[in-house]
Amino acid sequence: MKKKIIILGIESSCDETAASIIKNRDVLSDIIIHQNIHKKYGGVVPEFASRLHEKNIIKAVNLSINSARIQKNEINAVSFTLGPGLIGSLLVGASFAKSFSMGLKIPLLTVNHIQAHILTHFINDSNINNSYPKFPFLGLVISGGHTQIVKVNDFFKMEILGSTLDDSIGDTLDKIARKLGFYYPGGPMIELFSKNGNCKKFIFSKPLSSGLNFSFSGFKSHILQFIKKKSKDNPLFIKQNLPDICASIQRTIGEILLEKMKKAAIKTNIFRIALAGGVSSNYEIRRMFLSLEKRKNWEIFIPKKKYTTDNGAMIAITGLLKYEKNLFDSIYVSPYSKFNKF
Ligand code: AMP
Ligand code: MG
Repeated sequence: MKKKIIILGIESSCDETAASIIKNRDVLSDIIIHQNIHKKYGGVVPEFASRLHEKNIIKAVNLSINSARIQKNEINAVSFTLGPGLIGSLLVGASFAKSFSMGLKIPLLTVNHIQAHILTHFINDSNINNSYPKFPFLGLVISGGHTQIVKVNDFFKMEILGSTLDDSIGDTLDKIARKLGFYYPGGPMIELFSKNGNCKKFIFSKPLSSGLNFSFSGFKSHILQFIKKKSKDNPLFIKQNLPDICASIQRTIGEILLEKMKKAAIKTNIFRIALAGGVSSNYEIRRMFLSLEKRKNWEIFIPKKKYTTDNGAMIAITGLLKYEKNLFDSIYVSPYSKFNKF
């Protein structure tokens, strides 16, 4: 019989305080405490984020242990996000996890946040495909902090093929959404308002970024300027055209992502793609990627919505996969905010 391994995963890299317990690859609990304070500021305020992690981390961990119906001493190891992310926020999760590991005398496992988004697909029942992607595959991480194409040769053999050269896709959507009058995070609002919109009403030019890299800062300025100019000519422009504006932005973003991934697939001869990160919960982006499956040999893996944005289960599964390979860490590790290679 396979040994039962229970891992506590802690995520605190941005504005979610999350803790999850997994047993082998099954999620027993997945607690996320959201920080609503950032809504009115149009983005995450780092100082508020770390203070709220400090306030909520014990509550999140206790809830995760209680709702998993386990005892603390059944936990085999604790994993936590080491980076990339906001340094003050990461330090809260890191300090807690180190103390927990020392207190219970259990191993410590550090997790790379981007790797964890991709490895979400190895949690049981985590994607709409009901299966794990086979290696090699291409991961597309589209989130609030990251936009990356990753070649995944094995659980911990990953290679970045392309990255954003400036803003992330999620940040771009959030900034545009703010201009349209939505609170942070605006990505879900763009999706909501696009439902009855004509996605071909407005044509936006797409960024010219080299190879497999992305660039969203020019694209963002182009749309912000467009909204400004149209609103100057007609102050009711946003109100009268909101669904069409949202649908047109969403389609353009989907096309940018799709074009790059087709390029990456042809370049690597890998036609198996796994989406990850908050923006991958967008229905239009999911639909556009799924349409690739009509072509021969393409396989598209889409995470269930609850596993797209930051969560503790993705940190716990990565911890479990490291545990199985004895990839333990010492308490002397330090969090990092920026990340270049795996
Ligand atoms: P993450 O950093 O993975 O937690 O993802 C957060 C980012 O995902 C934010 O920028 C959100 O605006 C974005 N996001 C979440 N849901 C959606 C959605 N349905 N459509 C577009 N963007 C979304
Ligand atoms: Mg994330």
